[in-house]
Amino acid sequence: MSEHPTIGDTLEQTVDRHPERDAIIYPRKDQHWTYAAFNERVNRLANALLEAGIEKGDRVATVLYNGSEMALTVYACAKIGAVFTPLNFRLPAGEIEYIVTDADAEMVLFESETREAVEGARPNLGSVSEYVFIDDDRADVPTYASGFYDMLESGSVDRPDVRVDEDDVYAFIYTSGTTGRPKGVVHEHRNMVEHDLLCITEMNITRDDVGLSMMPLYHCAELHCNLFARVHRGAANVIHHEFEPEAVLEAIEEYDVTVLFAAPTAWNALAMTAAESDVDVSSLRLGLYGAAPMPEQVLENCMEHLCEEYVQAYGMTELGPAAAFQSPADQLPKQGSAGLAALNHELRVVEPDAAPDRAVDEGEIGEILLAGPCTMREYWNRPEATERSLREADGSTWYYTGDLGYRDDDGYLYVVDRKDDMIVSGGENVYPAEVEDALFGHDAVEEAAVVGEPDEEWGETVVAYVVADDDSTAADLDSFVLESDRLADFKRPRTYYFVDELPKNPSGKIQKFKLREDEADLEPESETVA
Ligand code: ATP
Ligand code: MG
Repeated sequence: MSEHPTIGDTLEQTVDRHPERDAIIYPRKDQHWTYAAFNERVNRLANALLEAGIEKGDRVATVLYNGSEMALTVYACAKIGAVFTPLNFRLPAGEIEYIVTDADAEMVLFESETREAVEGARPNLGSVSEYVFIDDDRADVPTYASGFYDMLESGSVDRPDVRVDEDDVYAFIYTSGTTGRPKGVVHEHRNMVEHDLLCITEMNITRDDVGLSMMPLYHCAELHCNLFARVHRGAANVIHHEFEPEAVLEAIEEYDVTVLFAAPTAWNALAMTAAESDVDVSSLRLGLYGAAPMPEQVLENCMEHLCEEYVQAYGMTELGPAAAFQSPADQLPKQGSAGLAALNHELRVVEPDAAPDRAVDEGEIGEILLAGPCTMREYWNRPEATERSLREADGSTWYYTGDLGYRDDDGYLYVVDRKDDMIVSGGENVYPAEVEDALFGHDAVEEAAVVGEPDEEWGETVVAYVVADDDSTAADLDSFVLESDRLADFKRPRTYYFVDELPKNPSGKIQKFKLREDEADLEPESETVA
């Protein structure tokens, strides 16, 4: 092991400390492995990858739901310096083609649920020389693919003899594709090992913890904040193939799960299910959430039905992801806040796009910048995007998040909206999230996305795309937002577009760029208000 550990070393350290503690429990395939047993399999897979021709620096893409195979693959890649490249398992063929080609991947791992999409992309995946199918029934393995479980049995159990350094690339993690095409975020071993330490500290992870991974492991929030932090610390990991609230509650009882990560919408579903169930979830001591603040009512329901303590993480793929945390004691007093900068991080709020020393005043909205040890090296193959988002100043590398926010009197960060979504109408700034929140107050509104439309007189006007009950009209919604003093007049949408659905990325985030660029193919019915 080198002086500065790699991701592979973090696993070896844990095996050295307590080989016999539980590492991976994957009920779907009846797998229950101690750290020694897990590490042995990781080594076997790593050696089998080398046998299959994968070399240090090669990209290994996965199109996999959660499973022990994701955990085995990420650590096996780390041990041989291959670049782990996890794709969202819900991507259609065209998007698989885009990412696998962009990453120039050598190998693709897939399974029965993702087979159709991978096969759809396959004729156009020129860089890929090996396909690996992970289902354990060998009869199902397609002729053009290797069987994952055959590989696992064939490889040697010794740690592969490949030198991997802390500044080698560990992974390409693609962003969610909310504001455009997904971008490949290049992370090194060093920044991820640092990131483990943040998460271990903020959640007080100990080797006695038992975590449950049911949020997707292709996303860095579950993978890095949870699985990596727990493996580094030596805690146990139960893995669920996908998110099913009842199954999660039962697993909490069966495995005495202590920590759990979920998006606010999933916490809401869990709390509602728990309210109706008599499953014993008293082992749960801490919940982690991110992607958005938790609405106060949801937080209170979770506190009542699940556990008392929650931590919120704010960040993005480029930062590992977590770069700010709101701790348990701040949940209610600072509801809606994203908390304070993570350890070893610096946080600034500056005039959008301005130099890192152009801080705005306390309470004023500006662009959120973060600097810290977990920041990506670069965007893969996108030097211009890298140059725009990483800037050196005062001895630090500042990442321009593209998010707007402000800090309150106590320095707590509040995220307001994305910079590119902000509307400037008649010289006034309009933050779409605020207008959307007002619209959500109306019972007929299921979904809403507010964007700016070019306008000769005002620069931009505010327009709303809504999914609503059939009989709702623009006049209804307009009088609703006006009457209740929900919005200043200049923030009111002037046009409502009624649509059947909104364009979303595979994680469910609304893609406003498609609305602005008229790319969404929605055939809306529009109504303009006075
Ligand atoms: P792309 O970069 O491809 O457009 P994306 O930004 O949605 O996609 P992610 O890195 O998964 O991809 O998401 C990060 C974004 O999610 C942040 O920039 C921020 O807008 C939002 N976000 C994350 N955590 C929080 C939080 N705790 N509170 C509010 N917003 C959050
Ligand atoms: Mg982003």
